[in-house]
Amino acid sequence: MDVDAGHGAALGGALPTPGESPLTRRLRSLLTWPAADGDPVTTLVRAHRGIHPSADASVLRRAYTIAENMHRGQFRKSGEPYITHPFAVAQICADLGMDTTTLVAALLHDTVEDTRYTLQALQEDFGREVAHLVDGVTKFDKAFYGKAAEAETVRKMIVAAGKDVRVLIIKLADRLHNMRTLGVRSAASRERIARKTLEVLVPLCDRLGIQTLKRDLDDVVLLHLQPEEHARIARFVHDRPGWDAYLADVVSRTRVALRRNRVDAEVSPRPRHLYSIWKDTVAGDHATPYDLPRIAIVVDGPATDCYAALGAVHGLWRPVPGRFKDFIASPKNNLYRSLHTSVCGPQDRTVEVLIRTTEMHRSAEYGVAAHYRFPRAAGRAADRADELAWLRRVLDWEQDTVDPTQFMASLRCDLAEAQIQVVADGRQVVLPAGATPVDLAYELGTERGDHCLAARINGRLAPLSSELEEGDVVEIFTESDAESGFEAAAAPRGPRREWLGFVKSPHAQMQINRWFADHTEPGISIADKVRLGRASVGLALRTYNRGLASDLPLLRLSEELGYPDLETLLVAVFDRTVEPDAVVRQLIDLVDHRK
Ligand code: MN
Repeated sequence: MDVDAGHGAALGGALPTPGESPLTRRLRSLLTWPAADGDPVTTLVRAHRGIHPSADASVLRRAYTIAENMHRGQFRKSGEPYITHPFAVAQICADLGMDTTTLVAALLHDTVEDTRYTLQALQEDFGREVAHLVDGVTKFDKAFYGKAAEAETVRKMIVAAGKDVRVLIIKLADRLHNMRTLGVRSAASRERIARKTLEVLVPLCDRLGIQTLKRDLDDVVLLHLQPEEHARIARFVHDRPGWDAYLADVVSRTRVALRRNRVDAEVSPRPRHLYSIWKDTVAGDHATPYDLPRIAIVVDGPATDCYAALGAVHGLWRPVPGRFKDFIASPKNNLYRSLHTSVCGPQDRTVEVLIRTTEMHRSAEYGVAAHYRFPRAAGRAADRADELAWLRRVLDWEQDTVDPTQFMASLRCDLAEAQIQVVADGRQVVLPAGATPVDLAYELGTERGDHCLAARINGRLAPLSSELEEGDVVEIFTESDAESGFEAAAAPRGPRREWLGFVKSPHAQMQINRWFADHTEPGISIADKVRLGRASVGLALRTYNRGLASDLPLLRLSEELGYPDLETLLVAVFDRTVEPDAVVRQLIDLVDHRK
């Protein structure tokens, strides 16, 4: 897929020509939009039907017409009519292979925020699903929420994504197009936006496994943060004499070897994107851009064929020691699966080789979007649940974080964190880098965390504060482990306060705090009761797949139920004077009928 070429052409030159004033551009675009070759929706429908042949085009036309009408008279900073933006976002979603509902929501994604079109009208015209998606990417009003607006907006988006992950896909496409059209802004604002993208949206995209979108985001971030470096790498990639011929030779010899070994597979060159070359160049301190020739082998059969292909490649060229990685047996934490090896190829040049099945290739390229792009490929429900494990974890601690700025800080921290995988209870567990056995214990379950006493790392007893490393095999011992050999009576029950000093994950931190709050009665403060009451409401909401973007609905409910203020209601929940479930049912009622 080539997103770039696709919509650049469709927009009749959406990427502004340098040196042209916004006014000139506005005048020019009024002449060229809609595109000279007729109706822009046709382009979109064509892209969409290329992947989903029986898709309904009429709803796309209807959405486009409304969006175009509502945004009429509005212009982008670049001078183009505003509709070019939602159109480009829908085009990115179409190229990604998303379904019609996503495309409709993408076309309308800015209407509620920026025009007189209301969420109510949107829901009446296009249904609840589209309304939910648009609401998920609609920003909170700065005038009303003040400084907290930005953090609250991200929180709302994450909660909405918990119900429907397509919210995040539209947001990523929206940011990609905004980043591509940053050219007209000042250097300072370009850098600020690019940095935010790098901090939150790029890692988000990575967690969702959508590599095809992440490559585009990476490159456009590099373009804005390091324009000279971007140009240098682009120049290097553009003129490399003999590079293509060399790769073609490697590909054809590999094909022959595979055929001889009766492995059915597609072999192709696998170019690295600019950002990835730049990163390796900087990391290795190379004076000139560093990039090795790379090919991908996508086998047509089961996973075992990957190993047969590996054997064929290693039989052809000597493997470079220490470079083989089996991400099929141990998938990376965003569930990436492949075999990686490097071989000493023709002319003694090192060649990198990726080997995977068709299904692995699809999920490596499209991540959560793969289920929409290939709806008939039986995506196992368990796989989908695994893909969203990260999101569910974030939603867990989201419930307990009252302050939106604190939520944002935890999210940023979680996203910035490199992750490691350790083995416990015979399975792989993903933890933030720098995590300790206590983090692991809580990840395995609240009980295990609260009562953990000691840990064995790779067979040796280790302090609970030890930093775990990638691949460690860890055993957690609790008070109830008879074989642990620890005197249960001698050890105090429950977590220790000092754990708060070294645990790494927001989840463990939250659980430890909760334990102390639960166990320090009767001295428990009102503030704690309020916090815990709110957490109970949050957890109950989760069972309905709902979340709270702000306190407003709760505030209204407390009024309606006759409480003097919100705090009193939350304390009542803590004391179980009212059941959290009852509160939540009334809350949902209230929200759904007022919207
Ligand atoms: Mn937008």
